[in-house]
Amino acid sequence: MDKTLCPEGKHVIHVYSSGGEPYEPWEKLKPGTPEYEAYKEERAEVLWRALERCIPDVRQRVEFSIIGSPLAHEAFLRRDRGTYGLAWAAGTSAPYAGMLKNILPFPFPNLKTPVSNLLRCGDSCFPGIGTPSAAASGAICANTMNPVGKHIELLKEASQKDPLYKFLDPGVLANLYRPFVEGLTPSSELRVEQTQEKAS
Ligand SMILES: Cc1cc2nc3c(=O)[nH]c(=O)nc-3n(C[C@H](O)[C@H](O)[C@H](O)COP(=O)(O)OP(=O)(O)OC[C@H]3O[C@@H](n4cnc5c(N)ncnc54)[C@H](O)[C@@H]3O)c2cc1C
Repeated sequence: MDKTLCPEGKHVIHVYSSGGEPYEPWEKLKPGTPEYEAYKEERAEVLWRALERCIPDVRQRVEFSIIGSPLAHEAFLRRDRGTYGLAWAAGTSAPYAGMLKNILPFPFPNLKTPVSNLLRCGDSCFPGIGTPSAAASGAICANTMNPVGKHIELLKEASQKDPLYKFLDPGVLANLYRPFVEGLTPSSELRVEQTQEKAS
């Protein structure tokens, strides 16, 4: 998708398994030790085998590979026991679950904090895990703070930077929806007092 991620003629492949990896065998291991490296290889074997179903000689062709483990998530993302997934319970720190509170079955923190005009974003907030979601939560914060006219301006500007981003151009659609949402942005929900008044 992004041609700058690897040299011409090469490819990046990301393979991962479900989040059911038990933590107990990992917690006995120390990153950097031969035992840890060996266990990583052992647990990644299933991923290699899955990949070989699409690219049979992938192990011969690979130039660089790296394996992430629950300990990596714990170290780099500060996740309890290496968890990585939806509804990481920050529950009580979410003062208000927004319009989705009656639909979502879990207290997933949104952008609001108990402090007026202080927003949060990142993969522990809605919409969740991974860089695309973390970026989306940043975009939600930015969108919340800015009027829709500014969104449209930025989308147009970004779409002209590189042909790769041309798809971002909102085109004539922007003129259609702008009058409908203009009065709603930036979001009034930004102010916690208002939200609390509504809730009471
Ligand atoms: C091994 C591994 C592989 C992954 N693979 C993928 C993948 O293939 N695809 C994918 O979508 N996601 C992947 N992820 C997940 C992805 O990296 C995270 O979901 C994403 O980086 C979270 O973004 P964030 O901005 O919320 O937090 P982070 O990227 O963790 O950023 C938080 C930043 O805050 C800084 N910080 C922390 N405390 C302080 C402080 N007190 N003061 C100042 N700065 C502070 C940290 O140094 C860090 O730079 C992977 C994660 C790991 C660990």
